[in-house]
Amino acid sequence: MYGFASRLFPLCRSISGDGVRQTLKAIQSHIPLDIHEVPSGTDVFDWTIPKEWNIRDAYIKNAKGERIVDFKKSNLHLLNYSIPVHKKLSLDELKKHLITLPDQPDLIPYRTSYYKETWGFCLSHHQFEQLDDEIYEVFIDSSLENGSLSYGEYLLKGETDDEVLLSAHTCHPSLANDNLSGIALLTFLAKHLSKTRQKLTYRFIFAPGTIGSITWLARNEEKVKNIKHGIALSCVGDGGGPVYKRSRQGDAFIDKAIEHVLDHCGKSTAIVEDFSPYGYDERQYCSPGFNLAVGLFERGKHGVFPEYHTSADNLDFIKPQHLEDSYQMICQVINIIEKDEFYINTNPKCEPQLGKRGLYSAMGGENDRVERQMAMLWILNQADGSNSLLDIAIRSKQPFALIQEVASLLEAHELLKI
Ligand code: ZN
Repeated sequence: MYGFASRLFPLCRSISGDGVRQTLKAIQSHIPLDIHEVPSGTDVFDWTIPKEWNIRDAYIKNAKGERIVDFKKSNLHLLNYSIPVHKKLSLDELKKHLITLPDQPDLIPYRTSYYKETWGFCLSHHQFEQLDDEIYEVFIDSSLENGSLSYGEYLLKGETDDEVLLSAHTCHPSLANDNLSGIALLTFLAKHLSKTRQKLTYRFIFAPGTIGSITWLARNEEKVKNIKHGIALSCVGDGGGPVYKRSRQGDAFIDKAIEHVLDHCGKSTAIVEDFSPYGYDERQYCSPGFNLAVGLFERGKHGVFPEYHTSADNLDFIKPQHLEDSYQMICQVINIIEKDEFYINTNPKCEPQLGKRGLYSAMGGENDRVERQMAMLWILNQADGSNSLLDIAIRSKQPFALIQEVASLLEAHELLKI
C-alpha cells in the first residue's frame, strides 16, 4: 500500500484531467476497474460536470529569470484548477494571487478553485516574506476545456445482491494521507477480497470528492437500493485516531460494527462521532434523498491534524504500519458484515452440560480459556433468535471474532442453529 501511494504521489490529480486518469489506470493494474468518463456540461442533480482541467507547467520567475515558485518541484504550488496565464506583473499585483499559511510559515498550502475561474500560486509564508519589490513573470500552462470527469468503479459480485459500498476520493494532488492512503487501502482491499467469494457484493468507487459521488449517485439511482452498508475512507495512513463518523441514520449496522471494532482496537485515541454534514463523500451518500448507511472512517481527523491540506501531508507523514493497522480494522469490519448471524440455542432450558460434550477441553490454549468460556456462556444465554453475534459481542464486551469462532464450535456440537 505504501509503495503504491508513493508511486501515485507525484501525479497532479484534480476533479478532472489526466492526473486522475493516470491514477485510475494505476489502480487498474491491480483490479479490473471500470473507468467512466462523463462529459463536461452533463447535469448531475443540482450540479454540472465542469470543464476538464489539465496542467503541464507553471512557475513564477523573478527579475533575474529564476523560477522561484515552480510547479515541477511541488504541484501544490499551483492553485488547483488555475486558468492559463502568462504575464509580467508587480509584486503588489502578484500578491493578490498568492496564498500562504502565516501560522505554518514553512509549509505550502493546498488550495483549489474548481467553480470560479481564476489563477493563483501557493507558497510558504517564509518565502512570501522574502519576495523583493520587482517585476515577476507568471506562467501557467494549463487548459480548461470541454472534456470529461473520470471515475473508477469495481463491482465484486458476491452470493447475494446486498451491497457494501466502499468509496475513496481521488481528487487531491501530491498529498499522501488525504487521500492516497485511502486509494491504496481500497485498491488492496479489493484485490484481497476478489481472491475469495464473499456473501455480499462489494462496490468500490474511486471518484473525485463531492462532484464524483454526486455523479455516481445521479447515474446509478436504481442501484442504490441494494446498498446495505458503506464506508468512505480518507486519511488512513497516519497514526491518529482511529476516528469513525456515524452514518446519518446513526444506528445502522455499519455504525455498530465499526464502533465495536474501534472498542477493541487497543488504541486509546479511538473516537466515534455522530454524523455531521461536513466531511467527504459520505455527505452525498447520506443526503436525505438517499440516506444510505455510509459512515466515514479516518485515522487523523481531516481539518484537525496539522499536516492537513499542506505540503507536510507527504510520504514521510504516512507510515506502512499505520496503513496496515487501518487495513486490518476495515477487514475486521468486513468480517463482521460477512459472518454476523442470528443463532438459536437448541437447548435453551437451563445451561447445557458442556463437560460431557468435551467443550471445556475444546476451549483452546490456557491463555484465553477464561475468555472462551465466557464467550460460550454469553452466546448460549443470548442466542434466542433476537440477538445477532454482533449484538452478543457488544453486550459481552468480547471481540466479534472470538464470539463468532466460539459460535461455530457450538454449532458444530449442535447446541446452536441458524
Ligand atoms: Zn482534503
